[in-house]
Amino acid sequence: MSEVRVRIAPSPTGSPHVGTAYIALFNYCFSKSQGGSFVLRIEDTDQARSRPEHEAMILDALRWTGLRWDEGPDLGGPYGPYRQSERTEHYVKHAQILLDNGSAYKCFCTPERLDRLRKEQTAAGGNLGYDGYCLGLTQQQVTEKEAAGESFTVRLKVPAVGECVIQDRLRGDVTFDYTTIDHQVLLKSDGFPTYHLANVVDDHLMKITHVIRGEEWLPSLPKHILLYEAFGWQAPEVIHLPLLRNEDKSKLSKRKNPTSILYYKELGILPEALINFLGMMAYTLPSNQEIFILEQMVDSFDIDRVHLGGPIFDQAKLGWVNQQHIGALAPEAIYERLVQWRFNKDFFMKLMPVMAPRMHKLGDFMQVCDFMFYSEVQYDTALLAPKNKELEDTRDFLQKFIWELETLLSFEKPHIERAFKKVAEIHGWSLREVTHAARVSICGKTVAPPLYEVMALLGSDICRNRMLAAVKTVGELGKKKMKKFQSAWQKASADWEASQEEPPAETE
Ligand code: GLU
Repeated sequence: MSEVRVRIAPSPTGSPHVGTAYIALFNYCFSKSQGGSFVLRIEDTDQARSRPEHEAMILDALRWTGLRWDEGPDLGGPYGPYRQSERTEHYVKHAQILLDNGSAYKCFCTPERLDRLRKEQTAAGGNLGYDGYCLGLTQQQVTEKEAAGESFTVRLKVPAVGECVIQDRLRGDVTFDYTTIDHQVLLKSDGFPTYHLANVVDDHLMKITHVIRGEEWLPSLPKHILLYEAFGWQAPEVIHLPLLRNEDKSKLSKRKNPTSILYYKELGILPEALINFLGMMAYTLPSNQEIFILEQMVDSFDIDRVHLGGPIFDQAKLGWVNQQHIGALAPEAIYERLVQWRFNKDFFMKLMPVMAPRMHKLGDFMQVCDFMFYSEVQYDTALLAPKNKELEDTRDFLQKFIWELETLLSFEKPHIERAFKKVAEIHGWSLREVTHAARVSICGKTVAPPLYEVMALLGSDICRNRMLAAVKTVGELGKKKMKKFQSAWQKASADWEASQEEPPAETE
């Protein structure tokens, strides 16, 4: 048997997600239990949303969890480069192979036509997807269009009838009807690949033997299998792990739950406890013990023991797991962890300039700095609303601020200040009013040290989730209202940006 090679392939489009650590953990355990290799590949083909800052954060967050990869953009390896934006030539070359062997075709449809088609299909209530119009072009027409400089995409040919049956190691045979599968764009008109082409080409070139990923990728599988067949390659074995879920069973979302690994790190969850908890989501040790460390999971790991029930990312359970791990540490080790967490010189050097002016005695330290060390701040909800403002209106401001905060790549004072100015102007409140609401949600009090500095010290994940907790206590908007509210915000935000002469600091 060839060496087991697995990979995780995160896209650097946001904060490092706990789902990435979860998938990484199962890939790690599988590869290590088989004496294989674990590869980290960065899938940054979405040029508009990928950021090097996010890539760096993903790598840091994964390192913090203790999972170690054998090949990756930081380590190199025999099948590099491990960043898709550096591998464009492979995708262009492979798209040409598909065009040459008739498994793909050039599509010259304009965005306007595709838009019209989508609207007609939506109105008719049938399947959405490309209608195969350009499949009917003659070679002569294609040549003419190309000569006229018309831009094109490369699409996958999908059989018009029949079904495709694929074996998933955990799910058995999974069947897809070809009529429901879109003629996927493989290469965009700018020459960049889509996820599907890049993912399959790289898994093959990097000699990946097992694809272990989240079940949200299951619908992509038939497209991938068609690609493997078109290239004449042996497809890797596929294993789709169950999705992590919110308590209401919906897919884990940052609207309902903190999803950033960095949030849990800042909160003081121990990395081994997070790993233990993520392991429990889909795996039980043969001994049934709930508390375990990574090495124990690797030693006992058997992929066929993975369970498929929808695992709930239950904060209380995570707290309990963490408590067990803290409890197992010797006092000196707990002290060490506290030092690593916040009680260290680095943090104090940043903390003191902000807090010291408010300390008359050393004994005031706790009172002045308490909210810097809390997992959750406690306050009376009524305090959130500035004078003469309604609580609901305050909640709406906080929600807008959360959205704005999610777009920030840096969380230093000038970025925070700009965000407040922007949301205040759009919301029609004074800076005093917006900072009041933010201060109470973050510090739990109406009078506190300078807010922007405090927020920069706490970091964006903690601030975001304290604000989210405030939104929740006032009462969240329903799903429909929320959607409307969010698109109104997006429009207002884009208009505001367009009205500014200075570009946002983080994109300079
Ligand atoms: N880039 C995809 C992601 O962001 C990878 C999915 C896969 O593992 O195939 O998760």
